[in-house]
Amino acid sequence: MTRKFTTQILHSDRSANIEHFAVHKPIHTATAYGYPDANHLARVFQGAEVGFVYSRQSNPTTAALETKITTMEDGLATACFSTGMAAIGSTFIALLRAGDHIVSSSYLFGNTNSLMGTIDTLGCGVSLVDATSVTHIEAALQENTRLVFVETIANPRTQIADLAKIGELCRERGLLYVVDNTLTSPYLFQPKTVGASLSINSLTKYICGHGNALGGAVTDTGLYDWSQYPNIYDTYKKFEPKLWGITQIRKKGLRDFGSTLTAESAHKIAIGAETLALRMERAGDNATALADFFATHPSISKVYYPGLQDHPQHGLSKALFKRHGAIISIELAEGCDCFEFLNQLKLVILSSHLGDNRTLAIPVAHTIYWEMGAERRAEMGIDDSLIRLSIGIEDQQDLLDDFAQALAIFSHNE
Ligand SMILES: *Cc1c(COP(=O)(O)O)cnc(C)c1O
Repeated sequence: MTRKFTTQILHSDRSANIEHFAVHKPIHTATAYGYPDANHLARVFQGAEVGFVYSRQSNPTTAALETKITTMEDGLATACFSTGMAAIGSTFIALLRAGDHIVSSSYLFGNTNSLMGTIDTLGCGVSLVDATSVTHIEAALQENTRLVFVETIANPRTQIADLAKIGELCRERGLLYVVDNTLTSPYLFQPKTVGASLSINSLTKYICGHGNALGGAVTDTGLYDWSQYPNIYDTYKKFEPKLWGITQIRKKGLRDFGSTLTAESAHKIAIGAETLALRMERAGDNATALADFFATHPSISKVYYPGLQDHPQHGLSKALFKRHGAIISIELAEGCDCFEFLNQLKLVILSSHLGDNRTLAIPVAHTIYWEMGAERRAEMGIDDSLIRLSIGIEDQQDLLDDFAQALAIFSHNE
């Protein structure tokens, strides 16, 4: 019998041999490993025997976390990285070559958007289109398109990519389909269910959740036929074709590029993962209550939350995700100054992070989207008064009270 999500995570470390019958995997700080004889050493290097070579590429604590994430994603194999950006960057470095083309969303996470610009200058064409409809993705495909990269829920405006239809398109065309699952997390959504080839998670966000470790992961769902992918180096073709992609990502991203997750961080993330489901449920409940409160408040002109009936992809969100996530963005009514409002919050923290246990708020046009300029912000639909909220797991009434008292400063406007 297959056990359910949280049970599997809690008992995952013990399903393999574990030191001293510990209930979870210990933190291994060794950078190197000693072998009983030269044959054994050679076999581990050649991949003929399971073992660890050097902690830049793999480490027992990180390997236990990788197993856990593979389980969460119902995937084939996972490679962990120092951050979510390292996971995305390593995937591109490992799998793309000059002259290739990729199609992605115009509503990308800011740093991923910036990375797309770098990829472009390195000789890969990048087309950014509105990914809420598969027709835009299809129209952007070229003969040299290698992969399609989308996020589940975009931040800050919470647009949802046409995930299932893009999956069908990629399968028909033999394209690699890469989904950034960070805003949903594998508890709310498994990209494998819409045909994704790779699922990427910033572990820093919901999976860790406690704001105390950075990390990223790439999971191969096992659905893509790597024997069709033109950019696999001959040296990795000696493994089973199923493992070509993740092996190349691990070798290029970790061994050659060194974007390694530390064992200490892997441990913290693994502990966070144990309560992912509980935290996503609680944050989701809080987000639902707050979105309803904002939707009728006179000082708020717009609320972006996939759980609201009038969200353009509400139906899609309901069909695909277990819940609607915990990111809400709001725009204030005419004449309400967003800095004044933010300065009035007593409990909610002004912070650029998201997916934390604590509720966080940020005015996006003045911060994360400042560098790109007003024109690109307008294209992305980012209003000057747009505030992104990452809803945490505080007691619900305390959050409602804090937002209510902060918004009360505008009551003279009504
Ligand atoms: C935060 C984030 C990332 C990057 O993750 P880091 O761990 O901060 O590097 C990538 N994608 C999305 C959607 C994110 O929210």
